[in-house]
Parts: sequence; structure tokens; C-alpha cells
Amino acid sequence: MKSIKILSVTISILLLCSCGQNSLCENTFFAMDTVMDIKIYGDKNIMSEISSCISDADRAFDRNNSDSEIFKLNISKNLEISPETAALIQKAVAVSEDTDGAFDITIAPVMDLWGFYNQQYHVPDTVSLNSALACVSYKNIFFSGNTVSLSGGASLDLGGIAKGYLSDKLCDIIKSHNISSAIMSLGGNVYCVGSKPNGSKWTIGIRSPKNNAELLCSVNVSDCAVVTSGTYERYFERDGQRYHHIIDPKTGLPVDNNLASVTVICKDGTRADALSTALFVMGIDKAFEFQKKSHDFEAVFIKNDNSIYITPGIEHDFSADSYKILN
Ligand code: ADP
Ligand code: MG
Repeated sequence: MKSIKILSVTISILLLCSCGQNSLCENTFFAMDTVMDIKIYGDKNIMSEISSCISDADRAFDRNNSDSEIFKLNISKNLEISPETAALIQKAVAVSEDTDGAFDITIAPVMDLWGFYNQQYHVPDTVSLNSALACVSYKNIFFSGNTVSLSGGASLDLGGIAKGYLSDKLCDIIKSHNISSAIMSLGGNVYCVGSKPNGSKWTIGIRSPKNNAELLCSVNVSDCAVVTSGTYERYFERDGQRYHHIIDPKTGLPVDNNLASVTVICKDGTRADALSTALFVMGIDKAFEFQKKSHDFEAVFIKNDNSIYITPGIEHDFSADSYKILN
């Protein structure tokens, strides 16, 4: 698996890279278990910087890679780590505090139990689930400078936030080269840098949870992250029942609240990623109450029957055949 990843990143398919002034450079990578597509309009030769940033993040946050800080921290339970990773963990904990634990990166043992890491999926029994759940709480994460300690058997899984963090880092690289038009899609995480080369906003389609190939609605944005968490992104089926990868930290079970996907539109890609997972866990009513107090993001909720609900602030940049505005 790892060798496939490394190979894929190394020989990332150079689709089009003439790299003249404002010409399109497009590259596709495979990292963090997903396909990442980067399109840049500009003449800077930055794909190699982008490629190493992706490989570094892929290595740093992969808790199955024995070279990663997260792997080492999960084993030792007390480790001085890089300021960057410590800051990311702190940001994740801040989202946990804000969302009353709906987002919780100590979910690792529960993810393992369901088999989401090695694709050896199975439905855990209650006893195993309860013993894994006993280790789940962001309150078991402590900081002293860049030293992070994990108590109560906690271990970390950054799968709900790492791609958002990577999108912010890539955005910084792109902007540092004075490129004002770029778009990246890292799995369900889209980040738009600036606007389209013609100055208009980017249009980002949101998939139909019932049929991945179909776009159900779209949002127009510039300089913004658009991040979707959905039941259809990663799941397995047993006895006619679907089990997906967004887990309620209070029950250890895949969230079952009639939501099929949540999209968060926010300037901060890291926050957008964490919030898309958190709002999914919270359910539409609690999520909307939270959004009203937050003021820094908008959201699109799609229920299992494909009905669409949006927060009022995105209305003028939103298109769909039919939808309701939350109030
Ligand atoms: P994706 O990784 O498909 O973009 P998400 O951003 O919603 O989807 O993240 C889901 C991932 O986050 C899971 O695969 C798991 O690694 C982790 N995760 C699952 N449930 C939670 C949770 N309640 N809080 C934090 N992380 C979670
Ligand atoms: Mg997420």
C-alpha cells in the first residue's frame, strides 16, 4: 500500500504543464488514501514544492506509518513533536471544545475496531466497542509547549482534519508565488485560491449522495474552502446495512441522523474539514444553531432523500433545482 502511494506521488501524472504565463498546470497525486488534483494558473514552476508538501503531510499524519509523528505519539503517549503538528492537534481540540465533542481526534481505537484502516471491515460487538470508547475523549490530550501527552489510553486519528490542513499549506505555497488563480481537490476537500483566470468565481459542484457521479447542487466561491463529509465517501455493507466512516464519539457508531452529506464553506480549510465532520455528527438542528453563533462559515446539508438545506448566507451563491433555506 505504502509503496503504491510513494510510487504514485513520485510519478504523479503530469497531465498538462506547459507553465507559461497564466497557462494551466495540472497535476494529480495519490496521498492520504485519496486522489488529489491540483490546477494552477500561472507560470511558476511550483509543482515540485507542492509535491514535496503533499508527501511530507502524507507521511507526518499517517498513523499507520511508523515514521510519522502521530504513530510515535500514539505508541509513546508522550512526545515532543513539531510545532506544526502540535498546532494542528491544538486546533482539532479547539473544534472538539466548540462542538461539545462531536469532533474528536481520539476516535482512533473505534475506527480500528470497525476496520476502516486496513479495510478488514466488521461490525464490532458491544463489549469491544465500549472498551474502545472508554479511551475516546479529547480531554485526554494535554499540551506542554510542543510536547503532547495522551492519557486514558487515548490515541489520535487526524483523518477528519489533515486534508484541510494540507489544503491551507498548499494555498500558502501557491500564494507565496503570487499566483492568484488555482483550484485543488483533495478527496472531498476543495480549495479555491483567488478566482478563475477570467475573474469570475469558481463553481464547485456538490455530489448527489445517492449517485456519486451526479452533481446535485453547486456553490460559487473565491478564495475559500468547500469541504464535504458524506456517508458515501467510505463505507462497507453487511446484511443489507451500510456502515460509513463518520463516527459519533458518544456511541462509537456510524452517525445515523438522516444526513447523507454536509458541506462547509469557509476561508479556513483546516476548520472547514473539521467542521464538516463535526456538523455531520451534530445533525442538522444542532449544526444550524452552532452555525448561527459562529459567523465564519456557511453550510449545505443533504438528507438521505436528497433534500437540500442551506444556511442563509450562501443563498446568493448557491444553485440547485430545489432547496430550503434554514431559518
Ligand atoms: P473524508 O476523510 O472522507 O474527507 P471526513 O473529513 O468527514 O471525511 O473525515 C472522516 C474521517 O475522520 C474518518 O475516516 C476518521 O478518520 C475520522 N473521524 C470519523 N469520525 C470522526 C469524529 N467524530 N471526529 C473526528 N474525526 C473523525
Ligand atoms: Mg472532515
